[in-house]
Amino acid sequence: MDSAAPTAERIRIVLVGTQHPGNIGSAARAMKTMGLHRLALVAPQRFPHADAEAMAAGAGDVLADASVHDTLAEAVADCRWVVGCTARDRRIALEQLAPRDAAPRLLAEAGEGVVAVVFGRERTGLENHELQLCHAAVHIPANPDYSSLNLAQAVQVLAYELRLCLLAADGGRTPVAVPVPTRTERREPPASHAELEGFFGQLADTLDAIDFHKGRTPEAAMHKLRRVFLRAQPDAREVRLLRGVLADAQRMARLAGERDPGT
Ligand code: SAH
Repeated sequence: MDSAAPTAERIRIVLVGTQHPGNIGSAARAMKTMGLHRLALVAPQRFPHADAEAMAAGAGDVLADASVHDTLAEAVADCRWVVGCTARDRRIALEQLAPRDAAPRLLAEAGEGVVAVVFGRERTGLENHELQLCHAAVHIPANPDYSSLNLAQAVQVLAYELRLCLLAADGGRTPVAVPVPTRTERREPPASHAELEGFFGQLADTLDAIDFHKGRTPEAAMHKLRRVFLRAQPDAREVRLLRGVLADAQRMARLAGERDPGT
């Protein structure tokens, strides 16, 4: 029995819009050699296909168990953390990680639920709207003049990094140390304590204004909400955006109160 199996069960490899069925087979083989078995295919152009079977060699079971979905959203609906692999720097507002940094985070999140590693189409990669569904982007730091790996080879690199981490963590029995998220993609530093407190104050007022608590104590909800936003570490611009949303909600609540003063 592979000692890395229990956590590996919760790591899903997702291939989006694969054009060549042989690549699906090669990806399945790359996965199985590294102890990964959960494959999901989003709108593959040709599947099932003899070329996939041929390239999978002894990993036909991974192909046989693969799930097929119409959209990426459907394929990752139950996932708690999703990373999208990109051959290029897309200048999207997503944290970008190297495989070596992504692997321990994936494993740590896999301790709590299912995680997904998403790969794009051979010719065009992942669409921006698909990357928006991901929590982070992963880029293999390849030759910048020729950075696009074959799809299955990119799967192999990620699967190998996950394998090393899984073995180091003894198949999930030893907790993985989660590195502090890198902030290289951040254009601005995290909001100051005071900016966040200002936001939390407005959030509490807004919850009152929209009668969110309905008799329950406001503390419990605020406590949980604070945790969410502290974990996200928004920057000052993001805090301003959130406060703009709250201001509109407060305005709507006021208007509703004026229209119907009895409520
Ligand atoms: N021409 C496409 C490349 C697609 S390669 C593009 O520029 O986006 C097929 C898939 O393999 C990519 O969508 C990505 O998921 C993965 N891949 C290839 N090279 C990679 C790299 N250097 N880093 C991360 N993923 C890579």
